[in-house]
Amino acid sequence: MQELNMAAIEKTLEALRRNRMEAYYCPTAEDARTKVQELMEKGATVTHGGSVTLTQCGIRELLQNGDYHYLDRSVPGLTREQVEEIYRKAFFSDVYLTSANAITEDGKLFNVDGNCNRVAAILYGPKSVIVVAGYNKIVKNLEEAFDRLRTVASPLNTQRLKCDTYCAKTGKCVSLNQADSTLGDGCRNDQRICCSYTVCAQQRQKDRIKVILVGESLGY
Ligand code: SF4
Repeated sequence: MQELNMAAIEKTLEALRRNRMEAYYCPTAEDARTKVQELMEKGATVTHGGSVTLTQCGIRELLQNGDYHYLDRSVPGLTREQVEEIYRKAFFSDVYLTSANAITEDGKLFNVDGNCNRVAAILYGPKSVIVVAGYNKIVKNLEEAFDRLRTVASPLNTQRLKCDTYCAKTGKCVSLNQADSTLGDGCRNDQRICCSYTVCAQQRQKDRIKVILVGESLGY
């Protein structure tokens, strides 16, 4: 099993590099945190998207150590307007940290968002984007990525965020009940978290996106 995982990791790292992204392997969440630290200059303006993976890697604690200008949207007492302002300031940050909903073995990042601040920052704005993902996010292709979204990532995230959606209650997307569902089909709930679907393939700006694949199962 371990050998199979390493084969998929190596294949994915090579494909990401072919797609003009930096790609690293770190065996543990702690190693990933060290690599993130190496990739950020002291004094850099840094922020991140919501991510269980980043929490598991201790990234928030790293950003709070005083070495960075941390745009922290989770400071207690912030108003919705202040949080929205941080979302917008993220576009001018030096480093944006995030995970991915899935990464294909041919080097594509698949991300889906409800508020869309996270996918927007991945696509454009921050000078550098660092993606940290456990090996469990690797999928063969975009079809598997979409399946993963509808049966793993979205149900678990809606449960975590306490959204009153079909997938939070049943563990799968309502679109799976349709015989011919396609990308973008889903619930009509106001709390839906699958609103905008993005695929990062070969990048024009080489190495702006840096991907750290971790040899542990992280996030969902
Ligand atoms: S479209 Fe709705 S039901 Fe389907 S996975 Fe997304 S939030 Fe869940």
